[in-house]
Amino acid sequence: MHPFALSRADDEAKAIATHAQDPHLAFIAGGTDLIGLMKDRAQLPERLLDINGLPDMARIEALPDGGLRIGALARMSDVAAHPDVRRRFPVIAEGLLSAASGQLRNMASMGGNIMQRTRCAYFRDEDDLPCNKRRPGSGCAALHGLNRNHAIFGWSDACVATNPSDVAVALAALDATVVVRGPAGERAIPFTDFHRLPGDTPERDNVLGRGDLIVSIDVPACAEGRASHYLKIRDRQSYEFALVSAAAAVAGDGPRIRSARLALGGVAHKPWRLTAAEAALRGASLADSDALRSAIATSFTDARPLADNAFKVELAQRVALRALQTAGARA
Ligand SMILES: Cc1cc2nc3c(=O)[nH]c(=O)nc-3n(C[C@H](O)[C@H](O)[C@H](O)COP(=O)(O)OP(=O)(O)OC[C@H]3O[C@@H](n4cnc5c(N)ncnc54)[C@H](O)[C@@H]3O)c2cc1C
Ligand code: SF4
Repeated sequence: MHPFALSRADDEAKAIATHAQDPHLAFIAGGTDLIGLMKDRAQLPERLLDINGLPDMARIEALPDGGLRIGALARMSDVAAHPDVRRRFPVIAEGLLSAASGQLRNMASMGGNIMQRTRCAYFRDEDDLPCNKRRPGSGCAALHGLNRNHAIFGWSDACVATNPSDVAVALAALDATVVVRGPAGERAIPFTDFHRLPGDTPERDNVLGRGDLIVSIDVPACAEGRASHYLKIRDRQSYEFALVSAAAAVAGDGPRIRSARLALGGVAHKPWRLTAAEAALRGASLADSDALRSAIATSFTDARPLADNAFKVELAQRVALRALQTAGARA
């Protein structure tokens, strides 16, 4: 195991300043991703700053306008069990409960969850195969290697990895914001802008910089929240990352869709919002599967499968359709 020094933060401003000044220091919350990355030698911080003692960051609060504020240190299991989350935004609870295991969810924080790194086997491999995310400039072993689990949207020749978080897909569909405090103060980042596409710099998963601390994830009130669903397809039914997943949320006028929200997981370097499909779904009948299928297909014209994952193009459309129908049945 890579040696490291551990200290504990009790003051937010000091934690931000320390992180900003020290490029070899990482925040640690539940440690369920970071320690694994250190064991795999994919990330080798010399100093860890334990942020679990920072005040007010583990709260889950229902906001007066019907929204929700989820503290970055709230544990996945606490968020999934929270009555307001289950009632107002079942897609969040279902996304969380489909992830990892009970023990991991008890340890893992929401901030750590959306920061978790790709499960691309080359990235996690200790043999130092070419991987631009692990060693910038070394190449991408997955581009022409084993890429069954990889992206079909938004990839570049530098990286074809997918984002592994389940709840991030739900949060993208709900237009959540990530509230970050850093050296320049506080800012709110729209969830769909938080994770990056790989481009030429796949070593950067998201838009955070040195000194940036996620303090909460805010979910705005929305008409579609209650009638929502998360569907995850994976190689085995439990304790496995998504091959493809979908978050769907629907507001209806009788059987017709007034508005729909759809996002996919397991298909891109970030949660993938299906905006063209959402527009095409307006006014469609939930009972008309052919119309729903055609609307969803409008978001797949730019799908670019790799050698081993063409099946994801069809699978993702079916998963989106089923998630939409299940959400619609709750409207
Ligand atoms: C075996 C296994 C199976 C899993 N299966 C799934 C799955 O199916 N679906 C799924 O979604 N996830 C899955 N996970 C991932 C799991 O959800 C994450 O490991 C967990 O959510 C990370 O949270 P943490 O608090 O432990 O983060 P840590 O490991 O403590 O931190 C992860 C990263 O986030 C940074 N960080 C943490 N908090 C903050 C903050 N407040 N501000 C800024 N940076 C911060 C850390 O510096 C680090 O870089 C699995 C993990 C394991 C080990
Ligand atoms: S897909 Fe990305 S993470 Fe995987 S080997 Fe290529 S560069 Fe590395």
